[in-house]
Amino acid sequence: MDKKKLRNDLILIISLFLVMAVTLTITLSFKVRTNLVARIFYENNIVETIDLSKNEDKDYFVDGKHGKLHIHTHEGAIAVLESNCPHQDCVHMGYVSESGKPIICAYNAVSIVIDGNNINDVEI
Ligand SMILES: [Zn+2]
Repeated sequence: MDKKKLRNDLILIISLFLVMAVTLTITLSFKVRTNLVARIFYENNIVETIDLSKNEDKDYFVDGKHGKLHIHTHEGAIAVLESNCPHQDCVHMGYVSESGKPIICAYNAVSIVIDGNNINDVEI
């Protein structure tokens, strides 16, 4: 194989990799910011599906096993503001806007799972 052809092939391959890397980066950063959906579960049943990409300031009241949970969305994040559970773990989670970080209130059998096109392992 002549050297010039080999070099051209190499340049072509490197360019392709660069284009792929740039496309991937753009796609990932785009996806992280959009299409996030929070699903509120009570005992494995979805009771509420919230589109976080709307950035709504909204209150939700969900019936748990032992009482109501006051859930709030703000700037694409979701939090439990009030719950009657003894440890308040769900309240202490604060606002969450990433998938792979569910808010769980075991006492009330309520969990909030953020989902969508977010890819957990990529830090932008
Ligand atoms: Zn709780």
